[in-house]
Amino acid sequence: MKSQQRRAVSLRISVTDRCQLRCVYCLPLKGVTKLPAGDILSFEEIIRFARAMQAGFDLLKVHLTGGEPLVRHGIVELVAGLAALRIPDLVLTTNGQLLAGSALDLKHAGLHRVTISLDSIHDETYQTITRGGDLKRTLAGIKAALQAGLAPVKINVVVLRGLNDNETADIAHFGLAQGCQVRFLELMPIGCARAQFRDRFVSSAEVHQRLASSFQLTPLDHDIRRSSRNFLAVGRPGVSGTIGLISSKSHPFCAGCTRLRLTSTGQLIACLAREESVPIREFLRTDAPEATRDLQELAIRQVDGKCLRTEFDTARAMASVGG
Ligand code: SAM
Repeated sequence: MKSQQRRAVSLRISVTDRCQLRCVYCLPLKGVTKLPAGDILSFEEIIRFARAMQAGFDLLKVHLTGGEPLVRHGIVELVAGLAALRIPDLVLTTNGQLLAGSALDLKHAGLHRVTISLDSIHDETYQTITRGGDLKRTLAGIKAALQAGLAPVKINVVVLRGLNDNETADIAHFGLAQGCQVRFLELMPIGCARAQFRDRFVSSAEVHQRLASSFQLTPLDHDIRRSSRNFLAVGRPGVSGTIGLISSKSHPFCAGCTRLRLTSTGQLIACLAREESVPIREFLRTDAPEATRDLQELAIRQVDGKCLRTEFDTARAMASVGG
């Protein structure tokens, strides 16, 4: 019976709504209200959540995100607390701006790997897209992550027409040559990306076509739980590795989706594309067994309620949902 099986789940936990960047498709330049520190989940509450999910589910992965997780003070302690739970896959997604200084500490704390957002390898385009980012810092972050062994290091690129769509092969060559996996994401029409979507969206099919002129691409076995379709890519002499295409818009991967998202203020979200969320902070204030059980039951309802989405229907930004 399904209710007695341990359902597979992977958690994406936003540890802060704050970010030092204002990527054009993610956050508006002005008018981002900072939540009071007291509204943000404490480390204790986040760890309690992970522990409850581990006890009630087959917990595959915990993915820390934001906002920018590395701007949260004490993030290394949180990683250590989660690592103590022996989660099979403990990951952090970052813009990489602060990674050079923390990669080794994160590794020592028990982080397994990182995903780094890198939408351009040209200073000017990087600055245009991130509105304030310093490309050199993220490149140093990638190097530090590789040296620290936070592998596989994955590079995420959101492909944007007229901004970076002409650099896909260059970014892929750059990333693979470093020893990273490189994944190209379709822009999702959520938050402030909705207004730009029509002009900026580039499909994975088009990205594949562009890459195919520089790489020999061989499809790799697909795991339905994975968001990306992966290819073995062989490019310039000596450059090969894994390239992934994440087609959230053109080919949603809802069928195998095991994700539950927790926002930095304690809202549980089963689907990124929908407005619905459930406040769970009250369950995280205590270790009482009833609270844990109620939380698990609520989470089971969220997982079982997952469905195949047809359209995106939310004004929420990735930065608040936990990208
Ligand atoms: N600050 C971290 C970072 O930059 O990776 C983590 C948070 S960020 C919201 C997580 C990921 O979401 C990034 O790779 C970002 O490019 C992606 N993202 C944000 N808005 C998006 C959108 N509308 N469509 C597709 N990806 C988006």
